[in-house]
Parts: sequence; C-alpha cells; structure tokens
Amino acid sequence: MGRYLDSSCKLCRREGMKLMLKGFRCETAKCPVEKRQRNLAPGMHGWKRSKNSDYGVRLREKQKVKRYYGVAEKQFSRYFKEAERIKGNTGEQLLTLLERRLDNVIYKLNFAPSRKSARQLISHGHIHVGGRKVDIPDFTVNIGDKITIKSSEKSKKRIKEQLETNSNFTTQGWLQLDASAPAATIVALPSREDVQLPIEEQLVVEFCSR
Ligand code: SF4
Repeated sequence: MGRYLDSSCKLCRREGMKLMLKGFRCETAKCPVEKRQRNLAPGMHGWKRSKNSDYGVRLREKQKVKRYYGVAEKQFSRYFKEAERIKGNTGEQLLTLLERRLDNVIYKLNFAPSRKSARQLISHGHIHVGGRKVDIPDFTVNIGDKITIKSSEKSKKRIKEQLETNSNFTTQGWLQLDASAPAATIVALPSREDVQLPIEEQLVVEFCSR
C-alpha cells in the first residue's frame, strides 16, 4: 500500500469521528467534524450514509484504529498476529501494542502536534532512545526506555517551542516527562484507559479473525 497523500480530514469524515490527525486544528471550530453540515462521508454520495452490515460495522472499527495510528494494512496484520500471541484480551493487547509505537509516544509527550509530525521528527533523526538514535517510527518502547532529543540546539529548540505552544497538554501516567531537558522515561506499559480512541476493540478482533 502506498502512502496516503489525500486530506486527513476525509478519513475522519469517513469514520464519522475525530481521529485527531492534524494537531492544533483538530481542537478548533475549523474541524469539519465539528461543523455539523460538513460531517458527512467524503464524495458526492456522502450524505447517503447507508446502514452498515455486520461486516461493514467491523470493517469500520478496524479502519478507525488503523487510521488513528497511521499504520498500513500489512503492518496492522502484523500487530494483530503479535497481539494474538500475547496472553490476555487480544483487542486490548492490540491497542496497547499500537500505543507503544514511538511516533505515538512522541505525540503523547507533546513533542509533536500530531502522530504524522511525530513520524517526521523521528525519521529526520531528532529522537534518541536509550542514548541511541532511533529513526523508525514504529519502534516499540519498553519500560525503562529513556527518550531524549538529539544534542543539536535546533532540535531541542523545536521541541521546547512545541511544549510551550501547547502548555495545557497533560502527560499520561505511563510516561514521565522532564520538560526542561526535554526528555522522558517510560515508567509503565500503557493500559486500555490510556488509549483515547472510543472504539469496540472486540469488533476489530472479530474482523481480523475471519
Ligand atoms: Fe480534520 Fe483533525 Fe477534525 Fe479530523 S479531527 S476532521 S483531522 S481537523
């Protein structure tokens, strides 16, 4: 699957919910999902929201997760297979595995305004984990990992500016932020409550287990 280059807002309109793909704009009244008249599925027949079949309902739940975290289909299948191997509720394991992606962590630390810009920050080499550069956005973090910023002044300034712009942002309990450095430590694994996506993960499991 190629990279998705069309409007991110179209994805939210298709799912009928805010997937928070555009950072600051998502919090404003400019968000098309906030404007009721534009909260329609994209395309010329968007106003005709058809009743979904059981298959359709499950497909949409899976698509919401995929689009929220910005992962491709193949990658998503890999996460699902890994979640199946882990003991416990597969749906919850799937979500927490996705939550541990480095791009998601950078976003949740408020080092970047969206997961998309977090991916750019990582692939441009600004992020270090355990003292080593990690330029893979899907790197999975673990308890004890220390996230730091490349030693260049430019990189640190960029992150500090982002932290100041969105100073009301609250960091979740599994992440310990040191805003002055800036740096962070993973102090626990995320739980289902830390995943701020209102979906029914059981439906995703049912879709992927067909
Ligand atoms: Fe666009 Fe963000 Fe609103 Fe989604 S939540 S429709 S990405 S502004």
